This record gives sequence, structure tokens and C-alpha cells, in this order.
Amino acid sequence: MIFLGYKVKFVQNFTDIDDKIINRAKDENTDYSKISERFIDEYIVDSKNLNILPADIYPKATETIEEIICIISELVLNNYAYLAPSGDVYFDTKTFRDYGKLSGQQTEELVFDVRKKISKEKHNSLDFVLWKSSKKDEPKWHSPWGYGRPGWHIECSAMIRKYLGKTIDIHCGGQDLIFPHHENEIAQSECANGICLSNFWLHNGFININNEKMSKSLNNFLTVREVAEKYGYKSIRYLLVSAHYRSPLNLNEETMLQCKNAVARLAEFKSNLEFILKNQVLDNGQIIFDDQNKSKQKFLDFMNDDLNTAGAISVIFEIIRNVNTKITESKQFSENSVLNLINLFDELTSVLGLSFKENKNQISDEIQKLINKREAARKEQNWALADEIREILKNKGVLVEDKISGSKTIIN
Ligand SMILES: [Zn+2]
Repeated sequence: MIFLGYKVKFVQNFTDIDDKIINRAKDENTDYSKISERFIDEYIVDSKNLNILPADIYPKATETIEEIICIISELVLNNYAYLAPSGDVYFDTKTFRDYGKLSGQQTEELVFDVRKKISKEKHNSLDFVLWKSSKKDEPKWHSPWGYGRPGWHIECSAMIRKYLGKTIDIHCGGQDLIFPHHENEIAQSECANGICLSNFWLHNGFININNEKMSKSLNNFLTVREVAEKYGYKSIRYLLVSAHYRSPLNLNEETMLQCKNAVARLAEFKSNLEFILKNQVLDNGQIIFDDQNKSKQKFLDFMNDDLNTAGAISVIFEIIRNVNTKITESKQFSENSVLNLINLFDELTSVLGLSFKENKNQISDEIQKLINKREAARKEQNWALADEIREILKNKGVLVEDKISGSKTIIN
């Protein structure tokens, strides 16, 4: 989008309170916010290293309570929601005629899906909770329905309206969120605002491990960090763009090695071009690649076709094959044509988040200096300064973990 010249405002939310977080905090005998902060920090580091462009705003559920209460009040006032005897507030799905439009399912089919979760308090089995009355030892906020905390679905509707407005252009998420989460978001937002919530929905496929769904019970659960330590972040990035975002991805030893090889081929091509630029250019040398504009257009056509990244990558490899043939045939190239090709290569690979402009495997001088400075601060027990530097490093995609034996640095 940005590449095409659109002005993009990207909002990505963090659910920083839910049952799982509360339970984990109880297990670790700490505050729920400590748990969510820790996971958010780790997420930011991995997404930076994966070259995911940062969002403009990262709202958190607990920072949006006022807006959440406001939107629930509107829904209750207009009879789209009701207060149950327990103090929980539910959305009444019977009041929204279009319920199920995103997943294209009839409400009878959806009812079948949620049958297991029927609560006696609900008017209809598809109704979902907007506000949960507070339980003992749980974080709580004051509301017109007593103390409690928001249900999961409502935070997105409140944040979208707060930061982006009533209708947005694109809403993203995993395929598992289509029902019930996104159906519920649509119901809440469209009943409160009386207007379409999102013009487009982009739902990505799952990552399978050895053709099996990733799950804790199968014990085939892998974190980005674990895979990155073995194959590098760039190989993961390559895996992600090597298939269409809606298709499932299969992660195994073989595919990761293929991705690693593909990344190495791209890097090698770039360094070959840089070598030629330094050693094999002549004013009247050969044009290294004739089809610059045609290739770029082909790349863009693939990307504009619902983000066909696999097709776009094939264009880059087509360029590589053509140029490699040229390199074996000729030894002298025109400087301009080599420079143009390097620019084209950088431009196209950056669109896919696979930039080869710098070698990220090495810790830069600047980062090394910061790490040293932090170590010194720790030795002097200047914890405030050490924490401050840790934060700066985190924003640069570098995570330092303090162990008794010293600090461990994790970098791409
Ligand atoms: Zn959501």
C-alpha cells in the first residue's frame, strides 16, 4: 500500500487482559500487566526482526476501557444488548439481521458451533458477552453495570472507532478469527454506528508443522524465536511470503532449508552485482538487464492481485536467471545499468520485507556501543540507566536477557 503511494494508518491492538493472562499471573504470583507487557515486548522484538513494519498505534484493551464502556452503553440503550442477572452484559445477536454475513453461514449453522458454550443467562445461544462482572481476585473497572472487565470482542470495536473511525478500509486477522470474533465485531460496530465496519477483510492461513496443526497437546509448538535461532529471521520471512497469505503454510526442516537457500541466493545475487559495480564496469559496456520496466510491472501486477507474493518472488528469480546468463556471456557492463538493477532489486525485495541493503547478522557498532554502555551501567548498579538502554535496544529489535552469568543478546 505504502509502495503504491497510499497514506496508511496502521493500528494493531494488544489484548492485555483475558482469562489466560489472569491465570498465568496467578500461577507466577504477579500482576496481569507484567505478563502482558513481557509478551508484548517479545512480540515487538520478533516482529522488528521479521521486518514487519511497525504500526502507527498499538492500543491496549486496558487503555480503552472508557471507550469500551461508552460503546456498550450505546448498545444497551438501543436494545442491542442486555444486562443479565449475574451482572454480565450480552450482545443480543437476534437484533442484528446480518449476523453471520462474513463467514457466509446461516445462524442455525453457527448455533451448532457454539452449542457447547450455552449459558442459561443468554437469550440466544449465539449471544456473546460484552462486559463480565468482576470475580474475586480479578482486575476490575467501574462501569454502569457494576465492577467488571470487558469481554474480548468489544475492545476491537471500541479501538477501531477511537483511532480510525466508523468505517475502515482493511481489517486483518487469522482465519480462526472469522467466527465468532470478527462476526461479533461487525455486529457490535454496525449496530452502534449504523454503517459498514470494514470494506475489506484479509484473513491469513495457518502455519502447520510437518503437516499437522500447531498445538500444545501435540507438543509440536514452535516459537518464532526458536525457528529464527536455527534458520534466521529472513528465512521465516521468506517462508511467509513464499505462499499466498490465505493458504496454509507447512513448516518443516525441508521447507526451512529451502527458504534459507533461497535467501542465500538472493544475497549472493546482490553481492555479485556489487562486485560487478566495483570491478567490471565500462562506459560502453553491455546493458546488464534490458527488461527493468517490464519486470517491475509484472511484479506489481502480482502484488496488486490480492497480494500474490509467491508470483512476485518468481519475478525476482526470473531476473536473477536472466542476469546470471548475461554475466556468464559478458565481462563488462555499463555502470548505469548495474546501478539501476541494484536499485530495482532493492526496491522489489524491500516490498516483500526481504531487504538486502545491510547485513543484519552483524551487530552494528552503534548497537554494540549501547550494549557495552548498558553492561557498564549494570556493573555500577545504575538500574534506571540500564533499563533505559534496554528500552532503546528493544526499539531497535535487539533484546537483552539478563542471566546471572551475564547478558544474552538476541538479534536477527
Ligand atoms: Zn479483533
